[in-house]
Amino acid sequence: MAQSIGVGGERMDIHEYQAKELFRAVGIPVPAGEVATTPDEAARIAQELGGTVVVKAQVHAGGRGKAGGVKLATHADEAREHASNILGMEIKGLTVGKVLVTAAEEIASEAYVGVLVDRRTQSPVFMVSPEGGIDIEEVAATNPDAILRLHVDPRYGLLRHQAYRLADFLYSDPKLAKQATRIVTLLYRAFTANSCSMAEINPLIVTADGEVKAIDAKVSIDDSGLRGLPALETLRDVGAEPASETKAREADLSFVKLDGDVGCCVNGAGLAMATMDLVKYYGGEPANFLDIGGSSNPDKVVAALEIIASDPNVKAILFNIFGGITRCDDVARGIVEATRTTRIDPPIVIRLTGTNETEAMEILNQAGFSAFTSMDEVVERAVQLAAEA
Ligand code: GDP
Ligand code: MN
Repeated sequence: MAQSIGVGGERMDIHEYQAKELFRAVGIPVPAGEVATTPDEAARIAQELGGTVVVKAQVHAGGRGKAGGVKLATHADEAREHASNILGMEIKGLTVGKVLVTAAEEIASEAYVGVLVDRRTQSPVFMVSPEGGIDIEEVAATNPDAILRLHVDPRYGLLRHQAYRLADFLYSDPKLAKQATRIVTLLYRAFTANSCSMAEINPLIVTADGEVKAIDAKVSIDDSGLRGLPALETLRDVGAEPASETKAREADLSFVKLDGDVGCCVNGAGLAMATMDLVKYYGGEPANFLDIGGSSNPDKVVAALEIIASDPNVKAILFNIFGGITRCDDVARGIVEATRTTRIDPPIVIRLTGTNETEAMEILNQAGFSAFTSMDEVVERAVQLAAEA
């Protein structure tokens, strides 16, 4: 626990893979990847990702590339070998306990994008440079004109013309500038939503196909901002993992156990965080963060429901599904199957909307469940049921 907390305890550094989760949640393009603690696990992830991967040391320090903590691997065996070299390695006095295995990108150019709280004005300041991949301090020393600084008035947020200006400084090609406009806007959103003192993408790359993507992520969170953000608070716990989290990982679910009594089953990390916020808004406490992911099948829903229901604190279970790639009828089938095969005591309230919503409603109604389409309504109902239990 202590190792993840920054100097002085007023800020918390999180790992690259965790920072990328926050970026992903707001929609910043980030290559697919997963974290591993053993060489075999790294090989398995590389196999699943297919193609060339990058094995990256997860420590709270920059300059991992130079220190030998970032290695490309063209196949799973090579990923295993790199992982076994990198795990246990020391980088700037920190021992590597985890590696991120992520899909490799073909890099056409590297830029820098960062936003941090300016101590003097206590307001956010963006720094961007088309010269990325290297330390921004180095660019500041050798080529200060290659950096654009831009202050944000926190009352108004990052204005659209400011986002354009940052993007235009990075890329003269309008196709790239357009993507960068979106990315800086989303980065500012992630920065404020997670009470960050710093959020940095170095490098922000242009791929061989002309896509702008974040391949590195560095985030510090203001400790005083942690209260009220349960999903973030759990990022501290890098060591011990509850059994339910292990089970969730095996079922390919993104799950974090919390202390409340409203079980949450949601698709998409962003929607999961929004759902937890709404639970708190209505006076409840979420029992967990759970993202069933994009292409959910009924089996995943069964596993999710079993994990949530096995928590003795859970007094009500809330489903919030926005069908896109996730099909609502798959989720409905999973709910019906899970309640047939396992005894689930807490009441279940369901909100489904989107792809195959009508079929889903039919499946649920036939099994005796009622489903909502409004998010507010269903969250309020779940909080109420938990309070009454
Ligand atoms: P840092 O050294 O700790 O900042 O780690 P980074 O994640 O920034 O990686 C360091 C360098 O490794 C990058 O600047 C890239 O040049 C290289 N690198 C990282 N990921 C990839 C990738 O997906 N493809 C390629 N070709 N190079 C990568
Ligand atoms: Mn970097």
